[in-house]
Amino acid sequence: MRHLLLLGGGHAHVEVLRQLGAAPLPGWQVTLLTREVMSPYSGMLPGVLAGLYRPEQALIDLPALAARCGVALLVDRATGVDPVARRVRRADGNDLPWDLLSIDTGATPDTSRVPGAAEHALPLKPIDALLPRMADIIAGARPGQPIAVVGAGAAGTEIALALALRLRAAVTLVAGRSGLLPGFPARMRRLVARALAQRGVALREGQDAVRISQGQVHFAEAGSLAADPVIWAAGAAAAPWLTETGLHRDARGFLRVDDCLRAAGHPDIFAAGDVASFGQGLPKAGVFAVRQGPVLAGNLRAVAEGRAPALFRPQGDYLRLLSLGDGKAIGTRNGFTVRGRWVWWLKDTIDRRFMARYQGAAA
Ligand SMILES: Cc1cc2nc3c(=O)[nH]c(=O)nc-3n(C[C@H](O)[C@H](O)[C@H](O)COP(=O)(O)OP(=O)(O)OC[C@H]3O[C@@H](n4cnc5c(N)ncnc54)[C@H](O)[C@@H]3O)c2cc1C
Repeated sequence: MRHLLLLGGGHAHVEVLRQLGAAPLPGWQVTLLTREVMSPYSGMLPGVLAGLYRPEQALIDLPALAARCGVALLVDRATGVDPVARRVRRADGNDLPWDLLSIDTGATPDTSRVPGAAEHALPLKPIDALLPRMADIIAGARPGQPIAVVGAGAAGTEIALALALRLRAAVTLVAGRSGLLPGFPARMRRLVARALAQRGVALREGQDAVRISQGQVHFAEAGSLAADPVIWAAGAAAAPWLTETGLHRDARGFLRVDDCLRAAGHPDIFAAGDVASFGQGLPKAGVFAVRQGPVLAGNLRAVAEGRAPALFRPQGDYLRLLSLGDGKAIGTRNGFTVRGRWVWWLKDTIDRRFMARYQGAAA
């Protein structure tokens, strides 16, 4: 038997598991090595914080999925890859050999550029640490409690809206110099800014947070902001252990992959999702990990069977949906922006359908 090792239980690998369950690979043993047993679906997490979903609705039970799909599960953290000896190093000290390796381990919060962020802010990942902390924060929140969310991309903005709705807290969204929702159309940014104002969320634009201390966000010029907790939603970084892979990485440290999602120069290693650096660099958004899932599954099968892998073709624009937390959402695609209850219905339908594929109902 040869060994296919799936490293990380991210959005692309759950689809690989599903397809292996539907059509096993003869002659191959498959193992999933993952740090978390419950794989969070990020699209629904702000909905969990807003109280719209129970946490388990946004979590994929990897042991159950692996068992249904005939894949062995190992719960541990990878600490390195030896691409020549074809082994993955594990935190418990044991090496795991493989014949074909696929990496879908995501990104980590980028706390390195702002002193104090790693020590005093609550990062959005890992989500298995975030959810219990957020449950405590929600349970203990006082009216008027100052809460800051640093980083006004889609995740930070949705979380600020969710917390403002759920708690009677004084929420500040620190958008910094890049402003609210960088890269989104102006109309969407205007609509979201209005929604933030209606919820009483203070939007702080123009100045980056330069330091975090206990209960304070410090700015370069205009002093500081008292907040407890400070939630860190500012950017994605490559996990430090990727330096221990000997694989080609981009300037930010993510694994360079070719058009077929293969690690540069290593036809027996694939990578997908946030950990992978594709083309000129795709946004670190779950939608790409989801889209890469079927291509990755097909390519692992092709290589295992001695066939050529297929190209991954990312689409130019994609539907971006942002929940306002109150049963409405805003969406944008190809320059058009729409808002309303039906947009939330669309987002909810897409998200629930995605989860049903991996939670058992339709697996
Ligand atoms: C709160 C929040 C909301 C978001 N909302 C959206 C959204 O609405 N739309 C969108 O497109 N994107 C969203 N994102 C971004 C999205 O979460 C990521 O782009 C997406 O999760 C990337 O998927 P992935 O498959 O690359 O990895 P992940 O989903 O991060 O999964 C990685 C997996 O690998 C495991 N792992 C990590 N390191 C190791 C290791 N060393 N060894 C073993 N296992 C490991 C982890 O336990 C995890 O199971 C959001 C992010 C956050 C934090």
